[in-house]
Formats: sequence, structure tokens, C-alpha cells
Amino acid sequence: MATALLDDRDGFVWFDGQPGPTPIAITRTSKPKVHPADDELRFGSVFTDHMFRMDYTEGKGWHDAKIIPYQPFSLDPATSVLHYAQSVFDGLKAYRGQDGSIRFFRAAKHADRLNRSCGYLCIPPLDPELVVQSFHALVGVDQSWVPSKRGTSLYLRPAVIASESFLGVHPSKTYTYFLILSPVGPYYAEGINPVKILATDAHVRAVQGGLGAAKTAANYAASILGAEEAQKMGYTQVLWLDGVEHRYLDEVGTMNIMLKIGDEIITPPLNGAILAGVTRDSILTLCRDWGLKTSERRISIDEVMAAARNGTLVEMWGTGTAAVVSPVGELGYKDERVTINGGKTGTLTQKLYDAIVGIQYGETEDRHEWTTTLRPLKG
Ligand SMILES: *Cc1c(COP(=O)(O)O)cnc(C)c1O
Repeated sequence: MATALLDDRDGFVWFDGQPGPTPIAITRTSKPKVHPADDELRFGSVFTDHMFRMDYTEGKGWHDAKIIPYQPFSLDPATSVLHYAQSVFDGLKAYRGQDGSIRFFRAAKHADRLNRSCGYLCIPPLDPELVVQSFHALVGVDQSWVPSKRGTSLYLRPAVIASESFLGVHPSKTYTYFLILSPVGPYYAEGINPVKILATDAHVRAVQGGLGAAKTAANYAASILGAEEAQKMGYTQVLWLDGVEHRYLDEVGTMNIMLKIGDEIITPPLNGAILAGVTRDSILTLCRDWGLKTSERRISIDEVMAAARNGTLVEMWGTGTAAVVSPVGELGYKDERVTINGGKTGTLTQKLYDAIVGIQYGETEDRHEWTTTLRPLKG
């Protein structure tokens, strides 16, 4: 991996490993904000002092990488992303360990996925190496914003939006890549809390041949109504079933879904309608390391309900960056409501949570080299 020469003596940091070094111009804020106390952090409402921005123009490619004070965009009302949702995003975290170093969890994998998401939306590719370097550069500038308390972290939200002002439907000729940072609190302030989920055939999130494998705004828009209805019925999340037969499990809320039936750990295969979660991959890897039986296979809601009835459904949990794991305590489908593991967090779910969090905070051995330490700014 090329290393960024993070040297801001001249008001620039430099990407290297590109055809030539690409400068990132840095304009520092003259009005730094007050940092919230670690105990007051929630999710996604507080943002740091700076943002990263880079623009794309047809013929010119990606250009003008810069770090600027956090600020609103000025967009023409006809900007295509506002009408047709040609956009992608990703989400990852940086953690401050007991040793004081700041670690990213699987940054390169998130950058790769952002680039793959671009492909589904006809957005020109972004060099994943450049994306990783934008993580280092911006977190380097705003590193005082990485909270210290165990369980807190700095959430990174990279995104690309179509920026052309044009109401015709075609791939935009211009784009903006941006990265913003938000210090976030522990997902489970009072211990892991199992959720209640509803499997429904009234709504679908994504279909094969659609955008399910991309992290994109449209999938989230498609999930809002179903999620609202589930919440009105007393559930936390929707268990999304496949878009054709409404039988096979796809995802839960905005997480991947996993179950333990007997001694088999099951998660649906990456069939094109499912997002390839980084947490999903990490958990499958850990389970295999531990010699557990893992299957990426189709699993129907009927099989799950039958397993719940006959007592072989031992644990069920969602996986994602925000929560790591989210145990499912209750599952509703049609007229039935079943409790899983007495509504409590399962042993394996807890063990997976502890293992991943230990790696993220640099407390346990990182044998797969999932974390990278922030390359500090010099000068
Ligand atoms: C982001 C996301 C996930 C989780 O992915 P991670 O890389 O584990 O954070 C799962 N499903 C959907 C639909 C998502 O958008």
C-alpha cells in the first residue's frame, strides 16, 4: 500500500501512489467548535470542524481534493441527485485505543465497497487507495475529535453525489465526493439490547437485478414505509424477505442477518439483493477461525419459524458497523410471535461482539490485520 505523505507544512498534504502525487489543499477553520463530552455522544448529530471534498468533471476526472471547514453545499434546485438519487455512501469508524492510537477498522474494504457501489449507479470509479488516503488525511486534521471513552468512536461517512443540474435522466457528467466525520456514542449505552423484528411480505427492500448490493440512498428510501409500519406495530426493525417469493431472508433493517440453528451458523448468500457487509464478513471469518460450522445459504422464513417452534433456533442477530451485532429477541411473522433465546443476548452473539470490539480498540490480537493505525500529520 502506498503511504500518504501527510505533511501539511505548506497547507497541503499529498496523496502518493497516484500517477503523480495529488495535493490535498487544507483550509483550516477559524472557528473551531466546542467538542461534546464523551458521555453526551449519540449517533450522527454532531460533526467535526472539517470535511473532505473532491470533484469530478467528465473529461477531467477527479480533481481538486481539499479539506475545508465543515460547511453546507450550495446546490442548484435542478441538481440531479435531488431528483433521481444517483448517489452512494459508506460508513466506517475510527477508534481511539487505550494506548492512544487511532485505528480504522477495515478501511480498505469500505473504500472498495464504495467504489463497487459507484459501479451500480454509473458513477465513475474512485480509486479506493485515494479514498483510504482521504480517511487518513481528514481524521488526521480532526483527530482531536476522536473520543476516548471505551465504546465511543468517530464515524466516517464518505459519499458521492451526482451534481449536474439537468432534469433529463442520464448519468450525471459531474460528481462530488465528500467525507464528513461524526463523533458517536456507544450503540449500547446500557448493555446490548435485543430487538423485536417483523418479517413482512407487504414491502420489499431490494430485488435481484436492482440496487440491493449497493450502499445507496434509494434502498434506504425503499425501506422507510415498511419500517414505520413495523414500528407502529411495536417492532424495532423489518426482517426483509426476498422481493420475488417473499419467502427467503435478505436483511434486517439496515443490517445483514445471521442465525444459529442447532450448531449451524447461517446467513443468506450475497445474491445481488443483499449488501456485502464488512461486519458480516468479519463475523463469518471469526466463526470459521473458531471452527464453527458456517453456511451462506438461502433460508426461508418458514424454516426459521419451524426452528423457533421446535427449539432449534438458538440465536439470531443482525450485523453492521453501527452496532457490530444486534441480537433479535423476538420475531413476528403473520399471526405468530416467537421469542428467541428467552429474549436475551445469546452466548455466541456476545462472544462475537466482544471479539470484534476488542480488535477495534487494539486490545486483542488482530490476526487478520483488519485495523490500520492513523498515519499522523507531521509539521
Ligand atoms: C451498511 C449496511 C449493512 C452493514 O454493512 P457493514 O459494512 O457491516 O456496516 C448491511 N446492510 C445494509 C443494507 C447496509 O446499508
